[in-house]
Amino acid sequence: MAEKNYYDILGISKDASPDEIKSAYRKLAKKYHPDINKEPGASDKFKEINEAYECLSDPTKKSNYDQYGNANGPQGFGGFDGSAGFGGFSDLGDIFGNIFGGFGNSRERRNMSSKGEDLQVQITISFEEAVFGAKKDITISRIENCSKCNGTGAKNGTEYSTCSDCHGTGQVRYQENSLFGRVIRQGPCKTCNGTGRIIKEKCSECNGNGYKKVNTTISFNIPAGIDNNQVLTMPGKGNCGKRGGQDGDLHIIIKIKPHKILVRDGYDLNLKLYLPFYTLLLGGEVEIPLAKGTTTLKIPELTQSNTIFKLKGKGIKYLDRELYGNLLVTVIAETPKSLSKSDKKALEEIKNSIKPDSFTRYKNYKKDLDSLN
Ligand SMILES: [Zn+2]
Ligand SMILES: [Zn+2]
Repeated sequence: MAEKNYYDILGISKDASPDEIKSAYRKLAKKYHPDINKEPGASDKFKEINEAYECLSDPTKKSNYDQYGNANGPQGFGGFDGSAGFGGFSDLGDIFGNIFGGFGNSRERRNMSSKGEDLQVQITISFEEAVFGAKKDITISRIENCSKCNGTGAKNGTEYSTCSDCHGTGQVRYQENSLFGRVIRQGPCKTCNGTGRIIKEKCSECNGNGYKKVNTTISFNIPAGIDNNQVLTMPGKGNCGKRGGQDGDLHIIIKIKPHKILVRDGYDLNLKLYLPFYTLLLGGEVEIPLAKGTTTLKIPELTQSNTIFKLKGKGIKYLDRELYGNLLVTVIAETPKSLSKSDKKALEEIKNSIKPDSFTRYKNYKKDLDSLN
């Protein structure tokens, strides 16, 4: 388990919605922001809040955290997630951008742009694809910059003029009285909607928006060993950013169809194998399934019911290394549902011929039972 409980830090329940997570974070971030809160410990608390939000606001990290108690998932799994989690800090930018904005030069331009939204899709793959890996294509609907107008929204990408109110910056400054006294604020220019451009003639392809929804096919690899509910993140494959902002990410949630017979447990496979009781007594060979193909399992004579046979390395390959889990076969004696007269007669004969002393566990049970009285 994680040392810190991110849900407790943000004061929310485990099933809080993304909106609830965001709003809890905003409240706390404002309360403990080092520029506002000068109490000792506030800055540590602020860091902790950001850490919690960075994890819980990112579907990949949240899913890992819920499953494995840390944002990176099982060891090495972090390799898939190429997106560094600065979600918390860019959000902070838009909270404090309004209060503190307008003072830093570098922030001015950045305030105009916005990161594209992350997209989330779910795909179901077969058991074999999860075990051995696969190449997949999915078609998603994402917002992309309009190529016809180069994202300007103006016909041919040229039919616009520079906004005279903001001189093309998309931002205007104004004075306002606030909690902190009189401040100079900066906000998007209303004349041009923060784009810095006045469109003379709209691009017909995107109706002047500069971006449009497009169905696009994305190819990706499923790594061998992936487990149910794990998330693959493809940086930059979400919706496109606006006004030069970063593109969002695409999160692919993996669902795996169960195998008909084998049950997966991490990298191990389990098989509950019911065998006719005489096979356990006399021994024999049985065919058992592997992740791919089958193999023969030798049952020695006088095998007890519930014996587990461990087939080393016949499980699933680890995601991050050349190591395989095991196949664990539990054999269980099955007794017939019905017996013929001659079956019964034969069994009676066996019953009479086997010495009661050979059932050591039953013998010990009787002894213990007697000692109770
Ligand atoms: Zn266009
Ligand atoms: Zn303007």
